[in-house]
Amino acid sequence: MDLGIAGRTAIVCASSKGLGLGCARALAGAGVDLVMNARGADALEAAAEEIRAGFGVSVTTVAGDITEPRSRAALLDAVGGQVDILVNNAGGPPPGLWSDWEREDFIKALDANMLTPISLMKAVLPGMIAQRWGRVINITSQSVKAPIPQLGLSNSARAGLTGYVAGTSRQVAEHGVTINNLLPGIHATARAQSLDEADSSAQGISIHDARSRREEKIPARRYGTIDEFGAACAFLASTHAGFIVGQNILLDGGATNATI
Ligand code: NAP
Repeated sequence: MDLGIAGRTAIVCASSKGLGLGCARALAGAGVDLVMNARGADALEAAAEEIRAGFGVSVTTVAGDITEPRSRAALLDAVGGQVDILVNNAGGPPPGLWSDWEREDFIKALDANMLTPISLMKAVLPGMIAQRWGRVINITSQSVKAPIPQLGLSNSARAGLTGYVAGTSRQVAEHGVTINNLLPGIHATARAQSLDEADSSAQGISIHDARSRREEKIPARRYGTIDEFGAACAFLASTHAGFIVGQNILLDGGATNATI
């Protein structure tokens, strides 16, 4: 399927690895020029080079912490014109227990997983509205639909972002601009690997067995891939997805046990 977005420009935050990289690759596969970001410059440049070589699109890199205003400003400067597609992403907050978290922990989580994407949306939406076309895709989490108790900081911050998107997406839709959220369940990324390692040491089992136990709980009996995730992102960014507004789309292999 021709996604109809060749020649468009996308900012893909937190995209040297994992789900963000999956989104960057899929957009590049549809002919989209990219501005990619991550904190670690080496891995970011390696990912960008792989995409340039594989897809022949233009890729600019901006190394920096997306939660810092100066990194966001550098990212917006690097576009040097119109942003057509914005993919919001950042690392997730650490796990813990409800009684562990103080105000500062919440501020950090809200900053990374709610206020950072909101600030980038606020920066790019006026241009998208003016050109009567734009796509924003926020990477959130399955935990928005079904809370993961030990990820209380993430549950809280992502719920806040979800509320913002629910209202804002309906205010900008008349201008040809869509905002939607993708909700990953477990995908085979470095983050999933570190959770497998933590389970392995906590339960005294091998990493392979820890992964198998987690896969058993997913109806698809496997982890998702970053390519599957990226393809969903590219479709939401496509011309065909203009009537999908303010949705929260689960990619979790059926793990969230809900009728709708
Ligand atoms: P990952 O494999 O660890 O990759 C994270 C990527 O984001 C890396 O490129 C990392 O590069 C970059 N990054 C992290 N923090 C950043 C920051 N503050 N500023 C700029 N770049 C940053 O993680 P992932 O599994 O793709 O997860 C992505 C998001 O989805 C996270 O918020 C995670 O909580 C959420 N999620 C993931 C899963 C899953 O199963 N994978 C499930 C539910 C939700 P640097 O470290 O070099 O910055």
